[in-house]
Order: sequence, then structure tokens, then C-alpha cells
Amino acid sequence: MAAKGEMFYAWTTNKGLAEKAECGGAVTGLLKYALENKIVDAVLAVKKGKDLYDAVPTIITDPKDMDQTAGSLHCGTLLMSKLVKKYFNGANTMKLGITIKGCDAMGLYELAKRKQVNLDNLVMIGVNCGGSVSPVPARKMIAEKFGVDPDKVHKEEIDKGQFIIEYEGGHKGISMDELEEHGFGRRTNCRRCKMKVPRQADIACGNWGVIGEKAGKATFVEICSEKGADLFNRAVQSGALQAEKAPDAGIAVRGKVEKAMFKLADKWREKDFKGLGEGAARLKTIMVDTSRCIKCYSCIDQCPICYCVECSTKKPYLVPPGELPVPFMFHMIRFVHISDSCVNCGQCEEACPMEIRNSLYMHALQSDLEKMFGHVPGVDMSLPVLALVEEPTERARLSSTGSDQIYDIFKK
Ligand code: FAD
Ligand code: SF4
Ligand code: SF4
Ligand code: SF4
Ligand code: SF4
Repeated sequence: MAAKGEMFYAWTTNKGLAEKAECGGAVTGLLKYALENKIVDAVLAVKKGKDLYDAVPTIITDPKDMDQTAGSLHCGTLLMSKLVKKYFNGANTMKLGITIKGCDAMGLYELAKRKQVNLDNLVMIGVNCGGSVSPVPARKMIAEKFGVDPDKVHKEEIDKGQFIIEYEGGHKGISMDELEEHGFGRRTNCRRCKMKVPRQADIACGNWGVIGEKAGKATFVEICSEKGADLFNRAVQSGALQAEKAPDAGIAVRGKVEKAMFKLADKWREKDFKGLGEGAARLKTIMVDTSRCIKCYSCIDQCPICYCVECSTKKPYLVPPGELPVPFMFHMIRFVHISDSCVNCGQCEEACPMEIRNSLYMHALQSDLEKMFGHVPGVDMSLPVLALVEEPTERARLSSTGSDQIYDIFKK
């Protein structure tokens, strides 16, 4: 019997599913089992749309349709957490099975803290994530760096640090490091991301650490909660999944890769944040870049931290309407409201029609706040710093010191 903290190699016993799945098909197998056995009312996962650059979130209620969602789409940059809030009433009225990457998991936890999502009604199957590539730059990268017509590509994968494509007439892989040196490869927020194994989920699945004859044929499964252990045990007992304990050598490989990814992310953070300058210079960089904003609100629509019915940025006394460039107060409001909880999902940058580096600015701020207060967003249910500020205490501080600063950011 599997218990929280244990690790396995697992694979589906369904042949059709095994063929479509990314590796062992454990993710789809588990979700299908949960749906068949009414552990969940529906499953929210991702399927291929028009082509492999088109990742479409989809809701499945008939277990027969689950196979459509098997396989990984690395050029799909969607965020699942906000969908749960927006379209499924925060899972308050239904039980939902869901596949989540690290940023999806973090977004769900931030929404749960704000009482916008009910985690008790979710069965979360996490997938490890080394990063994703934006669809339009992916097409450009394949045309320019691989010299292949992006419409002729029928399969892509990220394996052993390479982006690999299969196309009519062959296959080709180029190392991510080389692609990223030339401005291609993973999204910039993904390069800085350190949520590689989403252990906030009930079960975390991936291919790192699957070695030997099972490589490519099994999913590496880490059980992260009692709920996850129960689902896994039931699926194995029913025969929907087969599993064996992960070997020590496989666990060690997975641990090494995860550590190497942390190191790489730290390098990118240093480079990206340094490039912004410090203090007034950084502020100037942000003000110049954000002056191109057309106030389309896409960044707010997509952000998992933004949930307010009445958004302050729409209040005319804060952000006067009809002014261009858009008053900087628009961005200030977002920085103040979100920066302690930003999960670096990249959506505010991905969706921005003016290509403003929103995610970079917010992540840089979040990283500074994390250093000051020690709060790490999205990893558990601990509340952000501002939620812990008590109004009477702050009023007392203001009247006795004349300052409303809870932390002296200018102190050396
Ligand atoms: P399957 O049964 O094939 O199920 C795959 C599940 O992933 C499905 O539910 C599908 O809907 C969902 N999915 C597909 N694309 C997306 C997407 N873009 N966003 C959200 N959900 C999606 N594993 C590693 O060990 N190392 C990695 O570096 C790594 N990087 C990944 C990057 C991305 C963008 C994704 C989506 C996955 C990544 N994985 C990584 C996980 C790995 O590819 C497999 O998903 C995992 O091993 C489970 O395999 P499986 O055969 O059990 O999954
Ligand atoms: Fe994956 Fe992290 Fe990028 Fe999300 S932000 S897609 S978890 S690398
Ligand atoms: Fe994601 Fe941007 Fe919101 Fe941060 S501010 S959580 S990167 S959408
Ligand atoms: Fe709420 Fe602020 Fe986001 Fe507007 S910008 S939705 S007020 S958190
Ligand atoms: Fe401005 Fe870009 Fe946000 Fe639209 S998405 S409001 S253009 S910053």
C-alpha cells in the first residue's frame, strides 16, 4: 500500500491510452479511474487543438473521452488555476480532477487562501515541469533554428535538456541552452521558475528518474497527500494501474535533475533581475516599458492573484480614464496588491498585447519581498505579509512613529 511521501514507477494497463500517453500514462489513468468511480464529477485537463502549438483546456465528464487529454504539450502556456475559479465556481459545487504544473498548483493555493477555490473538492495530479515555450515564438524557433516548416512538425518533446521535434522526413534536437542563448527556448518566467515538482498536488508525476528498461514506459509518481495515496492505491488495486517501488538509483537521478534545475533558475534570476538595475534606475526602466500599456486588462484577467469583483484599477479617482499613456498608478496598484503573492506564472506577460515584461517586474518585486519577509507564495496555505497586518496595530504605529512603514527598506 502506498503512503504519503513514497515514490513509484507506474503505468496504465490500458493499451490504447499507453500509446497516446507521454510516458506511462499514470496521470490520465488516475484521472480516468477517478471519473469512472465517481471520485470526481469532472476532469479539467488539456488536449491538442488545431495543432501541437494549440493547447486547449477541456472539461471531461465521460471517462471514454479521457484519452483525448493524454500527452504533454510543451508549447501550451495556459494556466489552469484561474479557470477553476472563473468557470467552475472555484470547485465549490463540484468535485474536480485536474492536471497541474507547478505554476498551476501555486495559483490554486493563492486562490484558496483568498477563498476563491475549494481545495477539498479538487483531486490534483501534478506534472513536473522543466518549462514551456510560447506558441508563436515556438513556430519561429522551429523555422529559424531547426530549419523546419512548423506546420510539418507532428511531435515535440523536451528530453535531456534538448528541444526535440519529429517532422515529415526526420527528427532533430537542439539543446535548450543553445536555443536560449539565441533568445528562443523556454519562456523567460519558466527559466526563473523553481517549482519543478509540484508537491502541493495530491500526486506529483513526471519522467525524471525513470531509468533502465522502464525509461519512457513508466511515469515517476510521488505520493504527496493522503488523498493522493488513497486514489493511487484504489487505482492499483482495481488493475487500472500497475506500479512498483521506484529504485534508489532512479530517485537519486530525479533529485539531481531537480537540483540542477534550481541552480539554472537561480542563474536566470540573477541575470534577469540584475538587468533591471536597482532602486530609481529599476523604477525608471519599469515606468518607460509600462508606458506602452493600453489598459486592456488582460494581465488582470489572467492573473491568479487578481480575483476582485471591483478592481481598483477601474476606479476613476485612482486611474483617470481616457488618458494615454496610462497613468503609472495602474501598474502601482497591481504591484502593491500582487507582488507579495506573485507565483511567476508568466500569464500577465504572455497575454500582454504590448509585450510589456510584466511578469519579470512582478517577480523581481516578489523576490525582494521574499528576502525581506520570508514569505514564499504558492507552496502552502500560509498567508501573505499584508494579510497579517492588523489595522489597529498599524494605526498605533503611524500615530507613535509618524511612519506607516512596517519594514525600513532604506535601512543599510
Ligand atoms: P499523460 O497520461 O500523458 O498525461 C499528461 C497530462 O498532462 C494530461 O492530463 C494533459 O492534459 C496534461 N497536459 C499536457 N500539456 C499540458 C500543459 N501544457 N499544461 C498543463 N497540463 C498539460 N516531467 C519531467 O519529469 N520533467 C520535465 O522537465 C517535464 N516538463 C514538462 C513540461 C510541460 C509543459 C508539461 C506539460 C509536462 C512536463 N513534464 C515533465 C511531465 C511529463 O511530460 C508527463 O506529463 C508526466 O511524466 C506524466 O506522464 P504520463 O504519461 O503519466 O502523462
Ligand atoms: Fe512550468 Fe514553472 Fe513555466 Fe509553470 S512557470 S510552465 S511550472 S516552468
Ligand atoms: Fe502570474 Fe503575472 Fe500574476 Fe505574477 S503577476 S501571478 S506572473 S499573472
Ligand atoms: Fe484586485 Fe488589485 Fe488585481 Fe484589481 S489589481 S483584481 S484590485 S488584486
Ligand atoms: Fe497594459 Fe499589457 Fe496589462 Fe494590457 S496586458 S493592461 S497592455 S500591461
